[in-house]
Order: sequence, then structure tokens, then C-alpha cells
Amino acid sequence: MAIATVNPATGETLKTFDPLGDAEIDERIERAVRAFHTHRVTGFGGRAELMNRAADLLEAEQEDIARTMTTEMGKTLAASRAEAAKCVKAMRWYARNAEALLADEEPAAADIEDSGAVRAYVRYRPLGVVLAVMPWNFPLWQVIRFAAPALMAGNTGLLKHASNVPQTALHLEDLFRRAGFPEGCFQTLLVGSGAVEGVLRDPRVSAATLTGSEPAGRSVASIAGDTVKKTVLELGGSDPFIVMSSAGVPEAARTAVTARVQNNGQSCIAAKRFIVHTDVYDDFVNRFTAAMRDLTVGDPMDGATDVGPLASESGRAGLEELVEDARACGATVLCGGRRPEGLPDGWFYEPTVLADVTPEMRIHREEAFGPVASVYRVSGTEQAIQLANDTPFGLSSNVWTRNPEEQRRFIRDLEAGSVYINGMTASHPALPFGGVKRSGYGRELSGHGIREFCNPTTVWYG
Ligand code: NDP
Repeated sequence: MAIATVNPATGETLKTFDPLGDAEIDERIERAVRAFHTHRVTGFGGRAELMNRAADLLEAEQEDIARTMTTEMGKTLAASRAEAAKCVKAMRWYARNAEALLADEEPAAADIEDSGAVRAYVRYRPLGVVLAVMPWNFPLWQVIRFAAPALMAGNTGLLKHASNVPQTALHLEDLFRRAGFPEGCFQTLLVGSGAVEGVLRDPRVSAATLTGSEPAGRSVASIAGDTVKKTVLELGGSDPFIVMSSAGVPEAARTAVTARVQNNGQSCIAAKRFIVHTDVYDDFVNRFTAAMRDLTVGDPMDGATDVGPLASESGRAGLEELVEDARACGATVLCGGRRPEGLPDGWFYEPTVLADVTPEMRIHREEAFGPVASVYRVSGTEQAIQLANDTPFGLSSNVWTRNPEEQRRFIRDLEAGSVYINGMTASHPALPFGGVKRSGYGRELSGHGIREFCNPTTVWYG
């Protein structure tokens, strides 16, 4: 894929970039290693000062970066602004909390008495140079939720961003440099995915994190396995949104729309499968479909737009194939199911609701990365859980019920990295984020996230 800014709302190529050559990649890795040696011994106070400065800069230039993101990948300008604001919060959160999250851990004396130690504790030390392979869907947030904890822990970062968001990637490198992080602490590698293997195999690179598709994750994980390096993978999702009979249906239906079409439907934690109890099925589906039909699709820079274009032509083609397959296998299209009329040549797709979805349809098993919802009717908790878990993915889950016994069952039995009750999934700096099954492994955010790229070192005194 060419490294280029192509406006998804028009299909126009605005800027292209030459990928770095081998010598330039080598130079940047060397710089990252040198920076690690100084950055790792800077105290938390010093690192927090730099991180807060980066947050202040990002806050001041929120409008610029928001426009760049919308131009490069098509999310609405309002969504881009909100994303930048969320990044600022996360940076400040890690600046404030990293030291406490990585404080030495000392077991009770009685627990280690028989180890012969006079004293022993665990110290979280940084791992080194971490490679981040990142996607275009949240071009700022995905990077910051890696970079803020990694840099606060004392690691240095190399960013291989998606090829369609190069200007956002360069802005990020520049942001950390202007904030005063020593040269080499955070660098963007403008390279295609073919260059990832060489960087990851380089002995100077200690670990990798990847957010993206399953094939990309599998490739990075196998190279990391071959070279015995730590990885965190955050891959796709097909999150259930379960509505039981005790749910507040109007609120659930309103939230369901946002949960499905946020980021033009291109979010790993978007709710994709709506599993509805038969008692409230008609009420929920009618409200949900009417609201999906009412959404305004159009220019993402326009404040009146709810849903912008998909980020790429291939992304839209993939989504269309899923819908056509479902239609051919007997799904009912309640709304949408086609490209909207009267818009410019961008990669737009109408918000779509599919009913009568069955397990043999591709959309039942695959991730629908766009504004397409599947609805299912169930008659009880057992069936809802069985259907929710009938997916290769296990990222997050949403459950609407006021019944405490049902809540307890869903918390116990849903195969996912999180269970959101009476609300929609949204990442937060203080809460771990990640999945099970083919949604990946490891966690981002919170104390769990910052410790992923640390060496929990046992210190023992005789
Ligand atoms: P990719 O997984 O291809 O892209 C994500 C990142 O991985 C990009 O930086 C990409 O680089 C890189 N990459 C791609 N292939 C490899 C590889 N073999 N080795 C190393 N790095 C690689 O996602 P797409 O943009 O193609 O989207 C495809 C599907 O992936 C979506 O439809 C969706 O299902 C899922 N996805 C999930 C995301 C999530 O948030 N979990 C985010 C994005 C996609 P480059 O851009 O240069 O190819």
C-alpha cells in the first residue's frame, strides 16, 4: 500500500510519501536505543513533566490534528476533536499515575520467610525499544494509549503507523519532540507493512504491540515468537449488544445506534451483533432501525454529518461483500444495504440493519468494519449467552438488563475482555482494555497496560 493521504470523502490523493530506506530505518533504531539509555534513568517526575507538556501542546493544537485525522481517514470532525481531547486526558492520567502504578511491590515478610530473604520486592523496569504497529481507525488514540504508558515507564517507541495516516503519524513524532522528549524517544517510521519483519527481528528491538487485523497480528506474533519477544495484540471484535426484557428499551436503542456507527462503524469495540429478547424485540428493532435510517451520511467536515465515509475503497468493498452474502443467504435488510445517492465519489455506505442472520452467513462470524448491524431474536439468558459467545472474537460485550441475577450470569459467562452493563463499551485510561480468543491478548491502559512492557524484576537481599 502506498504511503499517502487520500481523502476518503472524495477519493482524491492529497500527498504521497517515500518510505524510509534500510539505512534510515537502522539509524532510527540506533537512535531509539541511545535514547532508551538516558530516558530509562530519568525519574518519573521528569518524564511526567515532558508528558504533561506534550498533553498541553496537543490540547492547544487539537483543531489542527483533528482536521488532519478527518482528512486522512474520514471520521467526523466532531469525533476527531473528541479523540484528541481523550488523548490529552490519557497523557495527563499516565503522567499523574505512572509512578504509583509501577511502585515496587513487596510481599509480606511471612510469605517469603522461607526464601531466606532479609527483604525482597518486585521492581518494574522498562524493557527497551518497543515497536508499535498501529491502525488508521483511531489514528491518534491508538498511538497515545501505547505511547503514554510506554514512555512513562521509561521505554522508547518506534511507530509504524497505517500507510493511510502518514501526516497524523508525523505530527505525533513532532509533538513528542517539541514537548522536549530526548531525540529518539518516540519516532515514526514511514514504512510499509513489509518492513515490519526486519524491524521486529532486529535484536535492538525488545517488544511489539499491534492493533489491527488478524492476519497482521498473526504475522507479528509469529515473528515475535520466533525471536522470543513480548507482544500485545489488539485485533478485531464482533461485540454483542444484548437487550433483555427488563432493559430500558428507548435508551438501549439510542445507545445502540452510537455503539454501532461510532467512527463510521470502524471500531473494534463497536457493537456489531444485537441480541434481543423476544419480549422487547419488536420495540427495540423498530426504534433502532428508525434511528439508523435517520442518520445523516456525508462530508465528515460538516457539523450536520453523523456518519462519514469508510476509510478506504477496499474497506467498503469488504463490507459490501458481507452484506451481499447475507442477503443472498436470506437475511432481511431492514434499512440501508447500499451506497447512498447524491454524494461525491467518496467511500460512503448507508447505515444498515440486517435481520434473520444465521450462522452460515459470513457476517455471523466475521467482523463488519462499517455501519452494518445484525439483529438476532432470543428467548432467554441461556440462548443470549450461547449466541454472544458463538464468535471467534472476544473483545468486549454490552448487556442491557436490570435483573441482578441476569447481570451475574452475563458477567460470569460472556467470553470477552469486558462486560459493560446498561451502557456501551468505551475505553478509559484507568480500565484495562483488550480481548480473549482471536481478539488478541495482553492489555492496554490502566496498570495492566503500563506493566505489559516492563520487566518485573525480583530484587532479593540476603
Ligand atoms: P491491517 O491490520 O492491515 O492494518 C493495521 C496495521 O498493521 C497497519 O499499520 C498495517 O500497515 C499493518 N500491517 C498490515 N499487515 C501487516 C503484516 N503482515 N505485518 C505487519 N504489519 C502489518 O488493517 P486494515 O487496515 O487492512 O483493515 C482490515 C481489517 O482489520 C478491518 O476491516 C478490521 O476488520 C480490522 N481492523 C481492526 C482494527 C482494530 O481496531 N482492532 C483496526 C484496523 C483494522 P499498512 O497500513 O502499511 O498495511
